[in-house]
Amino acid sequence: MKRRTWLFLVLPVVLSAAISCRPAAATKTISFVGVQDGQSRYRSMGLNIGYAGYWFPQFHAGTAGGGVSDRPTHENDHSVVSPLSVRVARLPLLQKLTRALRASLGATFGNLLWYALLAGAASLLFYVLFPRFFRRRRIADADPSRQQVSREIFHSLRSLAIFGLVAAGVVLAALSGWTRIYINDDRYGWPWFITSIVLIILLHDAYFYWTHRLMHHPRLFRRMHHTHHLSTSPTPWAAYAFSPAEALVQAGIGPLIVFTIPTHPAAFGLFMLWQISFNVMGHCGHELFPRGFVTSPAGRLLNTTTHHALHHEKFRTNFGLYFNVWDRLIGTNHPEYEVRFDRAHGVMPATGADGDVGPKHLQVTQPQARTKK
Ligand SMILES: [Zn+2]
Ligand SMILES: [Zn+2]
Repeated sequence: MKRRTWLFLVLPVVLSAAISCRPAAATKTISFVGVQDGQSRYRSMGLNIGYAGYWFPQFHAGTAGGGVSDRPTHENDHSVVSPLSVRVARLPLLQKLTRALRASLGATFGNLLWYALLAGAASLLFYVLFPRFFRRRRIADADPSRQQVSREIFHSLRSLAIFGLVAAGVVLAALSGWTRIYINDDRYGWPWFITSIVLIILLHDAYFYWTHRLMHHPRLFRRMHHTHHLSTSPTPWAAYAFSPAEALVQAGIGPLIVFTIPTHPAAFGLFMLWQISFNVMGHCGHELFPRGFVTSPAGRLLNTTTHHALHHEKFRTNFGLYFNVWDRLIGTNHPEYEVRFDRAHGVMPATGADGDVGPKHLQVTQPQARTKK
């Protein structure tokens, strides 16, 4: 790996470590979820065990191991009554690093599990068990080669490791109470829990569209985004097939969320499940939405597999992730999007009556597209 790439990887961890070393006042208690001061209010939400701890209860136990304080500091303090509360303000850096590494492993394993489960299930269904049945929903003609699938898996595993490193950095920062993760906080009930998930998804959609467009800039494309576009007809395994630099950009949504939106770990977990499900769907190569969906109100809002498949084919359009809002607003939807969606359902346009109307008919010459962008 290039030296510059390593810098990209190490920088967030070092920065987070620096943040976590910030001296904390002796009177403060950093609970499992936040920093309490003497006035029984969170100064800020803290200790983001994040996604990792959510999946790994032993991490919670590990966290509670050093100087557990399972009662609120003050009689009237109802903001933190978690048995997981722990004094961590004066935790040595080594302990913080240990916990961050544990969380990192947990995050990596959790992400890997969902990636393998969903991408594996989609591959099995579309390409192994019922290829004939799903062929009618196939977007591209060619079968993916073993080489392509191996490459996609290799790149995805590398991305998962990078996501884990970013998780470690976030946990280090969170141990100082810099994130807005909460667990037991009366201010946030079910309405906020649901609202936060919606907000997170909207934020991710905007973040993805604009960072994606940026990575298509000729100066950045080769270095950052080209790896993902090696698959012009992707399989579900391409969901995380990024270069290290792009993986870091994609992982950036995690810190952005926990530093800005009060987030329950379960809400973050559900968001992660949503994003990997949508991501696998976008790369599965088969249109799953019903005929006529793209012209319905829901289809105008939500993206489809055809939408992202066209992005992999044509490069210059269809940058959006979940919603078809940014592409519509900015005018970057592919003009043939609806035609290609219909074609995945076997509906041929009237003008293509010469018999040459298969998906290949609309494919651009990839080498050209690739060298330009
Ligand atoms: Zn893609
Ligand atoms: Zn792209």
